[in-house]
Amino acid sequence: MKFAFHGSPQDSCMATFAQRLTTAMQASGHELSEPIPGVGLVFSHVDPEHVRPFRRHAQATYIITLLRLTEHPADFLRAAYPFMIRSLGNLLIAVVGPEAEAQTYFLTLERGYYRIAAQTDPALHMQEVVRRLTPLATSHLVIDNLFDPDLEPDLWQGDQATAELERAGQVLDAWDLLPAPFPMQEILSPEDFRHVQRLYQIGGLSYGNLSQRRDRHRYWMSASGVNKARLHDVGQEVLMVKDFDEGQKAMRLSVPPAVKPRRVSVDAIEHFMIYREHPEVGAIIHVHAWMEGIPSTDVNYPCGTIELATSVAELVRRAPEPSRAVVGLRNHGMTITGRSLDDIMARVDGKILPQVPMS
Ligand SMILES: [Zn+2]
Repeated sequence: MKFAFHGSPQDSCMATFAQRLTTAMQASGHELSEPIPGVGLVFSHVDPEHVRPFRRHAQATYIITLLRLTEHPADFLRAAYPFMIRSLGNLLIAVVGPEAEAQTYFLTLERGYYRIAAQTDPALHMQEVVRRLTPLATSHLVIDNLFDPDLEPDLWQGDQATAELERAGQVLDAWDLLPAPFPMQEILSPEDFRHVQRLYQIGGLSYGNLSQRRDRHRYWMSASGVNKARLHDVGQEVLMVKDFDEGQKAMRLSVPPAVKPRRVSVDAIEHFMIYREHPEVGAIIHVHAWMEGIPSTDVNYPCGTIELATSVAELVRRAPEPSRAVVGLRNHGMTITGRSLDDIMARVDGKILPQVPMS
């Protein structure tokens, strides 16, 4: 992969970090390049006083924001997250604390953050940093949607399954498991907000999604960026997923002809793989929360990537009962399958921990 740097390091500590990072990236076979359009990975130094994002020309450019914090903030997420959004990053790496004992943190768009264990040998530490960032930077998003105005008229107002989705969304909201969308519009300029929307098709990050099977090949799923406590309008808040177009790497949806549709949740590809493989799975829920003793994926791939979908589907396959599985997504959340949404809600009631363990 070709990688490049954008901006200037904040201090000598960050300059040293960037130098070691370059060496470790090259040792892993990656090639240093200029920050030109089409480069695979850009490390973007952020100046907290004056954020100037690297504007990628293609979704395929992965941006890692590099942030220097000389002191440990009381609330790391609150201190660092806005810089990732403002610099249009996919991931943030922060170097935190006084230079002699600085620590490296990763922060993901899913609001997962974790420290990369310190090593006495800085080269070994940087090897570990590169080992952890590479799978994230090379993962593939499936966020394009193809809309076919072919939904049967008797489903335009929904059915039994959409009524259950609506109820389950209200219960998850009452359990406080549906974080409010991140107020991107408030911290991005109109130009940058349009940029983020165009590349990622997101209008504010709001996590958690749910789906319920309609028939052998199709399922209903919550839309992207909507209030999941109000899943009602077909084509707007709930969508019918009918296929995955391999060639175009896009989800194919059936919508009522008169509706200007919203996009389906980015995790539609993950639900698609599980439904196709396990006909007895009737419903799936994904929340950014945890349960004791669950198996977990090794790599925290981003939401909406083929790689995340594949690793979750593999754990579902290995579960004693794939149609009633609870799978952890490392540093991220969990995906739960069931015969129906009611089955899932009854099984998890009282067992969900709001805090995802980070490692
Ligand atoms: Zn998620």
